[in-house]
Amino acid sequence: MLFSNLIGKNNLKAQILALYNGNRVPHALLFNGNEGSGAFQLALSLTQLLLCSSPLKTDSCGACSSCLKVQKMMHPDLHFSFPIQLSQTNKITTSDDLLEGFIEMVLESPFFSRELWAEKMGNTNKQGIIGTKESQQIIKKLSLKSYEGGAKILLMWLPEEMKQQGANKLLKLIEEPPEKTHFIFVSEKKEQLLPTIQSRLQTIDVPDFSELEINQYLIENQNVSTEQVEVASSISFGNMSKAIQYLNNENNHDVYLSLFINWMRLCYTRNIADTIDWVDTTSKEGKEQIKGLLLYTLEMFRKCILGHYSVEIKGMSKEQASFLKKFSPFVNHKNIVQFSEVINDAHFHMERNANPKILMLDVSILFFRLLKTDKK
Ligand SMILES: [Zn+2]
Repeated sequence: MLFSNLIGKNNLKAQILALYNGNRVPHALLFNGNEGSGAFQLALSLTQLLLCSSPLKTDSCGACSSCLKVQKMMHPDLHFSFPIQLSQTNKITTSDDLLEGFIEMVLESPFFSRELWAEKMGNTNKQGIIGTKESQQIIKKLSLKSYEGGAKILLMWLPEEMKQQGANKLLKLIEEPPEKTHFIFVSEKKEQLLPTIQSRLQTIDVPDFSELEINQYLIENQNVSTEQVEVASSISFGNMSKAIQYLNNENNHDVYLSLFINWMRLCYTRNIADTIDWVDTTSKEGKEQIKGLLLYTLEMFRKCILGHYSVEIKGMSKEQASFLKKFSPFVNHKNIVQFSEVINDAHFHMERNANPKILMLDVSILFFRLLKTDKK
């Protein structure tokens, strides 16, 4: 991974390069940033630079044998550690037991997530941990000589999942690492790190991506329409993993599509009792889902105005298509501004912890009225 592969973050890149060029890269460093912020990529880029045999002033060379090995995540002096779902039956006790799957996930998309990893490990309800065995393994690995004569690096994803006992074993090593040994940690919630660990690390805070950066990245890297990119970047709130997951998961579109159609059917027929039921059920889906639905609705309204509501909506049933055909004239130049205001307003309040039930009922009732607007 080259620094130049990662979009934005120019100040941070400059800060890291200054450390490197000044020979001041700390031996224990923490990159802390929300999911999908690119913190792991920054850590990998630094790793590649530290191991590169012909580094440039601004990046690793990307071509030497060390760089090539890091790019495949198969450098003998680069060790990975991450939370795992321990299993006695499958003999899974350390990261190494699941290394192949982890590498596969990261290489597939550098914007992975806890959720994706849990799914890959086979159980989305079980949390991974970094256990005591893992610490023993790390100590063993780092006590060996460097295979290639250069730096030795331990890259740990989500050190906040380390338990006290395991962490205690690492304290001394983190404090006084062997020569040319680096600990690079990547966390999402540094406040959950054990204080004994956190106090030994120098922290670099990685900010979220801007909507513009997400837009640009998706346009360059994902083969999707600009409309889809817009929805994905607006519902992602700076989380690149979420934007990509949304685009990759057609089920998401289906979920929003059927939620949207049910909702509009209720608003169109002004069925208050069923609307209340719908609001009850939908508000249980959680804040993120509702925010996503609001933005999806905005996007669908825009499509109604442009007259291509049915374009590029995969998996729509005949019944749904015919509803949309009937429905679309009711969103028009007379009410679109108010519709947008209502949705944007609702989104704003959802962000600030409004009660989803009250909010969605209010929005629905406003929709009842707006849909009555004479279209002529
Ligand atoms: Zn290189």
